[in-house]
Amino acid sequence: MHISNEYLYEEDKKNYLPTFKRFPLAFIKGKGTRLWDADGKEYIDMLAGIAVNNLGHCHPKVVSAIQAQAAELIHISNFFVSPPQVALSKLLVDLTHLKHVFLTNSGAESVEGAIKVARKYASKHNKGGEIISMVNSFHGRTLATIATGQKKYQQGFAPIPAGFSQVAFNDLEALKAVINDQTAAVILEPVQGEGGIIPANEQYLQGVRKLCDDNNVLLIFDEIQTGVGRTGKMFAKDHFNVQPDIMTLAKGLGGGMPVGAFLCNEKVGNAIDYGDHGTTFGGNPLASAAALATLKAILEEGLVERSLEKGEWIMKTVRSWASIHPMIKEVRGLGMMIGIQLDRPAAPIVKALLDDGIIVNGTAESVIRLVPPLNISDEDIEKVLGKLKSLIELTEKNEKSKI
Ligand SMILES: *Cc1c(COP(=O)(O)O)cnc(C)c1O
Repeated sequence: MHISNEYLYEEDKKNYLPTFKRFPLAFIKGKGTRLWDADGKEYIDMLAGIAVNNLGHCHPKVVSAIQAQAAELIHISNFFVSPPQVALSKLLVDLTHLKHVFLTNSGAESVEGAIKVARKYASKHNKGGEIISMVNSFHGRTLATIATGQKKYQQGFAPIPAGFSQVAFNDLEALKAVINDQTAAVILEPVQGEGGIIPANEQYLQGVRKLCDDNNVLLIFDEIQTGVGRTGKMFAKDHFNVQPDIMTLAKGLGGGMPVGAFLCNEKVGNAIDYGDHGTTFGGNPLASAAALATLKAILEEGLVERSLEKGEWIMKTVRSWASIHPMIKEVRGLGMMIGIQLDRPAAPIVKALLDDGIIVNGTAESVIRLVPPLNISDEDIEKVLGKLKSLIELTEKNEKSKI
């Protein structure tokens, strides 16, 4: 049996629940920014597993940490501690300047935990348990996390958990109008990811912080996509000089291993009692070793700074095309979290780039999202920018000739 793209795509369709509209491509190997499909074609990966492979594919430091830990001890249970988990917890607390960490297996699980500790704090302070989130936000696909997010993800899943409401993002007055003594917490992404790469503005975030303080409401930052160097700081919160009470991480944290976390400050931690939360796998020795190696490599290799510098370069370059290419309406982002807002659906552009050996994705219908590995080389950036520019020129030229 020839293991081709087509064979694997067709076999998958027979068995996998049809929840993803997949491309007819199967990848079999990755190294750095490169991926190879089952037919042997090479790609530059500007999606990085959706902002996960911040070190590129199969970074040698992460591979050897996983190999060594797998040979030593893979899983125990959270009734006991292990050297990698102890070290990872300390590093995360040090890096975030928060007080406690809880390790999970995914983003949605991190948000679920964040909501639980926020509600526990509220109940201990005789407040309501309402959670306010932002229009256009994304916090995951579990029942509570779809309750925080876009209506399109809620269709068909009633009853949706109660106690969640949404307000407009980047609009302090809107939040002021709804925050009250039933509010336990406000949750937001410092840069909205799935919503189309929309950064918060600094005054807004500082205003939200003050509003929460004045009302004894907790502020949760969902840094699942923005964290771990992605935006050119270790965490996006550091761009805005705002410290949340609770913060979530996942995506880039494990260098590709499924690992997430939520962190909280001392006052939230004080509301938590033994037995309030749990997980079987969360932070097991293998996942913790991968996350520890990932964070260390990002720090050692100066990738946070690189993300800021190269991200600025990409955004500046694409912005400079906008004046002659009207299909580019806006370029938004922070560091290596970049959205190119088009005047049309992104899907045909995404498909054409894929045919040309470049993996990007479209989000919020008309936005091309670029979230490459933070260590992508200058040559690869130039290659991608060159191909993107040619494609945009060609698309506009073909359109003109049709008129
Ligand atoms: C991806 C994402 C999530 C969900 O993470 P999963 O690991 O898919 O559950 C939550 N919040 C944000 C901001 C994300 O980008």
